Amino acid sequence: MIEIRDLTVTFGPSTAVKDVSFTVAEGESFGLVGESGSGKSTILRTIMGLNKTWTGSITVDGRDTGKLPRKQLARLAQMVFQDPYASLHPRYVIGQQIAEPMKINGLPNPERRTAELLDLIGLGAKFQFRFPHELSGGQRQRVAIARALALSPKILLLDEPTSALDVSIQAEILNLLNRLRRELNLTFVIVSHDLAVISYMCERLMVMRNAEMVETLTREQLRARAFSASYTSELVAAS
Ligand code: ADP
Ligand code: MG
Repeated sequence: MIEIRDLTVTFGPSTAVKDVSFTVAEGESFGLVGESGSGKSTILRTIMGLNKTWTGSITVDGRDTGKLPRKQLARLAQMVFQDPYASLHPRYVIGQQIAEPMKINGLPNPERRTAELLDLIGLGAKFQFRFPHELSGGQRQRVAIARALALSPKILLLDEPTSALDVSIQAEILNLLNRLRRELNLTFVIVSHDLAVISYMCERLMVMRNAEMVETLTREQLRARAFSASYTSELVAAS
């Protein structure tokens, strides 16, 4: 579903991602872990076409993202960000915000589908008239997930999706994401600094450091502490 080869991303003179390659199968959940500034979010943003200066190749569902129009890419892959406070508009009711991508893309029955999406993510259609400030952090992240699903994408790119939430709410959101992945056959790439989250959510993961890939592991290898890089041991020991 996702194939990344020799991806290098630069910002002026600095290199944020260097020669990174990985593939993610359909329905798989792939984790990116590593210290702050190691290039994880940059990889997700580059997949979404949000960075201009990169080399290598990115293929999503068999299509070269470099040649894919923005609207078509949006129907294949969507991003969910860490902070649902920042990613929702404060002055629009949430029903409007979930319906907006459907209206932009000319999808039929955006109102009915908005109600269905609110049911799907466990809030219910009556929430469509509320403003973001009338919701809890966890409820807001559910809305951000519903909006990401509005165009029925095959892929969700999740950037620290639970890091801004209270610990008690984190598991609810992770379990919601797992259920959605199963029910909708979604493919995930999840960025997290929390190895417990990655171990719970992902079949495979890549460890990053200073813009480079350190190693790729299966969940079983992570749990068995079967690392080949000493950096991974340090990362696990620190978390
Ligand atoms: P992570 O998500 O692993 O914490 P990022 O991908 O956000 O790391 O950042 C990787 C590096 O790229 C950092 O050094 C960061 O400062 C830099 N960077 C990220 N986005 C930009 C940008 N838009 N402009 C300039 N530098 C950036
Ligand atoms: Mg980041």
